[in-house]
Amino acid sequence: MKVLRMSDTDLRNKRVLIREDLNVPVQDGKVSSDARIRAALATIRYAIDQHARVFVMSHLGRPKEGQEDPALSLAPVATRLSELLGKPVPLRKGWLDGVDCPPGTAVLCENVRFNKGEKQDDEQLARRMAGLCDVFVMDAFGTAHRAEASTHGVARFAPVACAGPLLVGELEALERALQNPARPLVAVVGGSKVSTKLMVLEALLEKVDQLIVGGGIANTFLAATGVAVGKSLCETEMLDVARRLLDKARSRGANIPLPTDVVVAREFAATAHADVRPVDQVRADEMILDIGPDTADHWGVLLQAAGTIIWNGPVGVFEFEQFGDGTRVIAQAIARGKAFSLAGGGDTLAAIEKYGIEDGISYISTGGGAFLEFVEGKTLPAVAMLEQRARG
Ligand code: ADP
Ligand code: MG
Repeated sequence: MKVLRMSDTDLRNKRVLIREDLNVPVQDGKVSSDARIRAALATIRYAIDQHARVFVMSHLGRPKEGQEDPALSLAPVATRLSELLGKPVPLRKGWLDGVDCPPGTAVLCENVRFNKGEKQDDEQLARRMAGLCDVFVMDAFGTAHRAEASTHGVARFAPVACAGPLLVGELEALERALQNPARPLVAVVGGSKVSTKLMVLEALLEKVDQLIVGGGIANTFLAATGVAVGKSLCETEMLDVARRLLDKARSRGANIPLPTDVVVAREFAATAHADVRPVDQVRADEMILDIGPDTADHWGVLLQAAGTIIWNGPVGVFEFEQFGDGTRVIAQAIARGKAFSLAGGGDTLAAIEKYGIEDGISYISTGGGAFLEFVEGKTLPAVAMLEQRARG
């Protein structure tokens, strides 16, 4: 990654427009989880300390473009951001027509998606945003995979365009895990469907030593090898794909370990009775909802020996207590091991939080979609634009 960094850019007394991802959950007019705001604090504080005039922008939710929707106003975010910074950060509406504030202070620009043309990366809109600033700082990794006016277009036209520390941190962690990883490189891909993670599985198979598949994805792989999976979530239309991936792994000398025992139930419910079975003894009226204890132990050993771990997707229905042990054991093994570990994905982050292992993961990616697209080997348009600007 060759981009200009914010830390190498002169911000003193400059008008600095920072794109963050402050798309946080809001309930009854209050921010209910402020993790994304906290993650952006260091960047905003740095710019303030440099005596910049700081204009922060972000999207929130999916408003109808060109229309102000009070339910998706960033007002609650401005309130929380002010509290966390210990300084007032007023919300500015109509900021496209001009925005300013004294050096060493910050304002928050109202939801970028209220502007017509934001999602289409409209050039006129991007030029207007760029005209507001001397320096544009792209710091929103979570939206870097989308070419939008406030992430990509503005970076094209701003006098100076650089990457913020949050974005740089994400990219460095991903590059460390994928470009020259300490071996063995072990990936854990769980979740419900092969179809939604096919590109990720394909890309990882080019690189990994072990590809551990869990969740509904493992069911499809099991079925592909001839195991009867009963009523389990399993994509019959993906069986050929799963067989091809198994062949691809074999031809590279990589391994896709499959569960040898599983936790089953007759219904998908929080109250369902759970049984452990060897994988070849799942009954016709049962579904596999977690990996079994032997499998979890075995995979735990593989993970403890890893040099690098990439984790996306829980290996069971961890939302229900009786099907959470597999994900818990895997999570704890990753946290205990010495590997450089990188985790991403909405439900994966929820599992990390549930089992309280945040401190054991080397890097937790904040961007679900952007994380997966990077792992797939795709270029993130907003990052590509920063690279283009750095080449001059
Ligand atoms: P992430 O958000 O981290 O990318 P996914 O959305 O792909 O993860 O997958 C998470 C979902 O997969 C969870 O809701 C979990 O309940 C579900 N899941 C895991 N194992 C199974 C299984 N065996 N059968 C059905 N669903 C499963
Ligand atoms: Mg998910």
